[in-house]
Amino acid sequence: MSRFFSEKYASLTPYTPGEQPQDQQYVKLNTNESPFPPSETAMRAALAALRPLQLYSDPDCRIIREKLAKRYGVAPDEVLVTNGSDEALNFCFMAFCDAKHGAAFPIISYGFYPVFAQVNGVPYEEIPLKPDFSVDVDDYCGIGKTVFLANPNAPTGMALSPAEIEKLLRANPDNVVVIDEAYVDFGGESCIPLVHKYENLLVVQTFSKSRSLAGGRLGYAIGNRALIRDLDSLRYSTNPYNVNSVTLAIGAAVLDDEAQTQANCAVIMENRAYTVGALRALGFEVLDSRANFVFARTPAVDGGALYQKLKARGVLVRHFTKPEIAQFNRITIGTRAQMDALLDAIRAILEDSK
Ligand code: PMP
Repeated sequence: MSRFFSEKYASLTPYTPGEQPQDQQYVKLNTNESPFPPSETAMRAALAALRPLQLYSDPDCRIIREKLAKRYGVAPDEVLVTNGSDEALNFCFMAFCDAKHGAAFPIISYGFYPVFAQVNGVPYEEIPLKPDFSVDVDDYCGIGKTVFLANPNAPTGMALSPAEIEKLLRANPDNVVVIDEAYVDFGGESCIPLVHKYENLLVVQTFSKSRSLAGGRLGYAIGNRALIRDLDSLRYSTNPYNVNSVTLAIGAAVLDDEAQTQANCAVIMENRAYTVGALRALGFEVLDSRANFVFARTPAVDGGALYQKLKARGVLVRHFTKPEIAQFNRITIGTRAQMDALLDAIRAILEDSK
């Protein structure tokens, strides 16, 4: 830290992203990316729609807002477009929390929430999960804080029903409830249909998972226009050109091909069922996942050791060191061939550890 760094960030612990190794080719199942690149058709359409790069990108992100509005049955001014959904989440902490109005989220959830709280000087409460690793919405009812829930949750993959979330929305009329639906397209149920019913609901989604654009950095929030206006005023106060022209063009082309997105999600869900069945047959406990990853542990091998042994065999998964989940590994669901490589490596490791 230099002597010039502001004191207010002295105790900040930055977010640790999953590894993006450059040293060798891994079977990469550690950051919940899609194994499918954007289609050739989408890439060609994107090139044709590309705004000349000597010009700034469209600060209104109009093309994406209009297409998302049509896709989800809302108005374009009920959509905020951001540089990945991380940016939308950060704006939510900036807009709806402050030193006097804190945030609440599960202790086991997306690791960026406490970082966004810290960087914005927001006090936060981390709420334990139930013993079965599910979220108990009763813990958040009447909490008097801005609530952030990933649904499906990460890294567990477990989902709440929209009815449970409605209970939460009704019990917190004076607090914004942010539902982070990064993984909703893999079998979860979206709360977007509720945004006109609850003025305190904001739904955040991303193009990084089901729409194969993690590297493009494109996310969005959907909510009533007053909430979106608040977030947009922060966007215009930090970086009005937050989404670059290339990404806007590719995102639009990908949205024109929702059938491809849905077909990809169907393959992932099929491969998830296959992987869960195979892991359980090998003696793993696997939580019930509605996401493009599974969270699994085995009594036969320590969680951290399994991560290391898989890495040594060229398979990268994600291990977290928090004591409650240190026996688990989070495994992204990829192609059938990738999952077979993972399962072969696990079988060999289990054989070695006998
Ligand atoms: N929410 C959750 C729960 C996530 O796991 C991620 C991905 N790391 C994000 C949001 C952010 O994704 P992105 O910024 O790529 O849209």
